[in-house]
Amino acid sequence: MPTIDDITPGPVWTTLAALVLLAAWWHSLRRVLPKMTPKRRNWMMCWTYAGFLFVLELSRPLAADEPSGRRFLLKLLILFAWALLIAIVYNIIYKNKPKMRKKIVAGNWKMNTLPAEGAELAKGVVAGRGTVCSCVDFIVCPPFTHLSTVAEALKGSDIALGAQNCAAEEKGAYTGEVSAAMIAALGCKYVILGHSERRQYYGETSATLNKKMTQAYANGLMPIYCVGENLDEREAGKHFDVVKAQIEEVVYNLTAEQFKNLVIAYEPVWAIGTGKTATAEQAQEIHAHIRKVLAAKFGVAAEECAILYGGSCKPSNAAEIFAKEDVDGGLIGGAALKADDFLAIGKGFGK
Ligand code: PEP
Repeated sequence: MPTIDDITPGPVWTTLAALVLLAAWWHSLRRVLPKMTPKRRNWMMCWTYAGFLFVLELSRPLAADEPSGRRFLLKLLILFAWALLIAIVYNIIYKNKPKMRKKIVAGNWKMNTLPAEGAELAKGVVAGRGTVCSCVDFIVCPPFTHLSTVAEALKGSDIALGAQNCAAEEKGAYTGEVSAAMIAALGCKYVILGHSERRQYYGETSATLNKKMTQAYANGLMPIYCVGENLDEREAGKHFDVVKAQIEEVVYNLTAEQFKNLVIAYEPVWAIGTGKTATAEQAQEIHAHIRKVLAAKFGVAAEECAILYGGSCKPSNAAEIFAKEDVDGGLIGGAALKADDFLAIGKGFGK
């Protein structure tokens, strides 16, 4: 029967355990921690520091007449140290993987604000940005007319600029249109495509959207491609088929490389600007479905694609929705028009 002295690590094992913990900690710090929610990050740090303490305690030599209480404590510590190692490895390798996707909060200002108001709003977001985890990517999408003013206001911050639309053609005699090259030249990184208001009021079809996607990628823009069913379709139980078709008709035409630079926004039309929100369960159910549809074409790359929820998302419901496994953030309309509300939505990730 081995005694406690046999299973208590000697200096070699102690050093080895310390090195493993140090490597895990270093890896976490560089690669994993910045992408974790503050809550998970704190837990991770706590466990890692506790691990060092356990190892230190274990490395204290045992006297021959060590009291049985200390021997028992040591047994407990050994058990804890192993559990800790397993927890850290599990956390790094498995548990955080699905949430390694980008966390995004994008504001769609629609046809609201004048240029000066837009600049003020953007400055407000910049001013409060530090209150939200740096693991959350913020994007603001003002009207075309204030893209450059807002770009100026965002300078020096990590908040990205997006446009709400772009033309289907490259350039030429298309009066009133704004090309992808033009918005890219103003500093846009993203462009919202296929928003339900554009499909509904401006007759955008999958054919138009395929052309817009081509233009967006040709100009280095990342499309935020919107899908979603209307109320009749939801009530008829057709929502899964509707979003599947919207994806198959457009996203399936992308190359694997283009797909890596795509964000999807699921926006049930019945929830947009109505105050009605999909429940967190409804959102998760359809987001998981969307991911499955994406995986059928793009395989494991679908795991990395950020899928945002949009539809009356606000500070009071963001945390519950964002906590769902396949929800990677939100496309925000009304609540993006107040800097505090927009930022508070970003804080939904930390809860
Ligand atoms: C939107 O139009 O993209 C949207 C989600 O709007 P709201 O948040 O106002 O429902």
